[in-house]
Amino acid sequence: ERMMEIRRKNCNPMIMKVTSYKKPVFIHQGHMQWLWDVDGKRYLDLFAGVATVSVGHCHPKVTAAAEQQLKRLWHTTNIYVYPPLHEYCEKLASYLPDPLKVVYLTNSGSEANDLAMLMARLYTGNFDIITFRGSYHGGSPQTMGLTSNAAYKYPIANGLGCTNTMCPDVFRGPWGGSHCRDSPVQTIRECSCAQGYCMANDQYIGQLKETFATSVPSRIAAFFGEPIQGVGGAVQYPKNYLKEAYKLVRERGGVCIADEVQTGFGRTGSHFWGFQGHDVIPDMVTMAKGIGNGFPMGAVVTTPEIAASFAKGVHFNTFGGNPVACAVASSVLDTIKEDGAQQNSLNVGTYLMTELAKLRDKYEIIGDVRGKGLQIGVEMVKDKASREPLPPEAMSEIFEDIKDMGALIGKGGVYGQTFRIQPPMCITKDDVDFFLSVLNKVVHSYMD
Ligand code: PMP
Repeated sequence: ERMMEIRRKNCNPMIMKVTSYKKPVFIHQGHMQWLWDVDGKRYLDLFAGVATVSVGHCHPKVTAAAEQQLKRLWHTTNIYVYPPLHEYCEKLASYLPDPLKVVYLTNSGSEANDLAMLMARLYTGNFDIITFRGSYHGGSPQTMGLTSNAAYKYPIANGLGCTNTMCPDVFRGPWGGSHCRDSPVQTIRECSCAQGYCMANDQYIGQLKETFATSVPSRIAAFFGEPIQGVGGAVQYPKNYLKEAYKLVRERGGVCIADEVQTGFGRTGSHFWGFQGHDVIPDMVTMAKGIGNGFPMGAVVTTPEIAASFAKGVHFNTFGGNPVACAVASSVLDTIKEDGAQQNSLNVGTYLMTELAKLRDKYEIIGDVRGKGLQIGVEMVKDKASREPLPPEAMSEIFEDIKDMGALIGKGGVYGQTFRIQPPMCITKDDVDFFLSVLNKVVHSYMD
């Protein structure tokens, strides 16, 4: 009660809005894929602080790396040469294909995307920036302009540095379910392609070309795309869709930016970066969340050519490349490798998707199951025929019951109709079985 009182009185009122449980959870402690509340009740964490705790809460190796650096040096600035920054930049760059080799460190995903917007505009000399419908790219005034998802947007945002931006809703979503009800349905069920998201591709690629012909300015600065949408509800694109978008963007002088804030660091399982699943090489990659396993950090990685054009001016941030953040992030990269986290994402994620698909076939209100690795969305509908989103009250009821039974998941989608499952990548098959039994019981009793 005291915590809620403080939350009401002294905390940013916005956080009351996002206190999504009717009976709030008071989190006290975490270890790997587990969280404990103040009363000692244990929860399986399937949301990872919004897809952020990549290798596990308080992972012993990462914690040890942080402790070691905390005792040596907390902060200095880029004016001085200090090893953690340089070692980390070299290591991170080694995870990216040529020519993506120049690293800028930031403190968050929004800051990374802000910086990428600026770099793209300076490099190309163009202004307009486009994104996908349903996208989320940040909450700073500029990146809120990029974000399409209206639920996360103040109407004024487009006036704050994003005027003329073609960002929201330029593209007709190719996806199905109730996400975009004027598009034909696409579900994993109907899909036979290896990647899990094919459909009548030609049709969507035709739509994309049409959109460019009719709604995209002749010269653009950039295109931002999440390789799989996160907040939008694990929305995937048809095969070759992103590749075609990159081609069309480059024809108009724009640079292509992969927002890997959610999909990077092995989360999609089959690849370290989400863009690798689309057979494209971006001109810039932005990242945050999983980069630091919960330690505040972000980055932009770009080409020497774009970096050279940006170097004509001066850019500075006090905390970017903070020694502790770099030590943590470096240890996260090592830990992903040593723990086989990416492979685990693929194995456990594929198992979870397969089992979720069985529940989808069993229950009328589970409309779609999609995603890759541990970037999974479960879209809830009133019924499969209408594909109408399950109303918010019903979503909340199910969400709450799942929590009461000991599992924490997320919510997303343009209508708040998609449950998001993006756990720490150390989750096991047994944990998944536990979650599936919870979901089965909760949906079953809801249907009764
Ligand atoms: N891009 C994507 C794809 C995101 O999901 C988010 C955060 N949800 C951001 C950017 C913004 O990151 P941050 O909250 O760290 O500013």
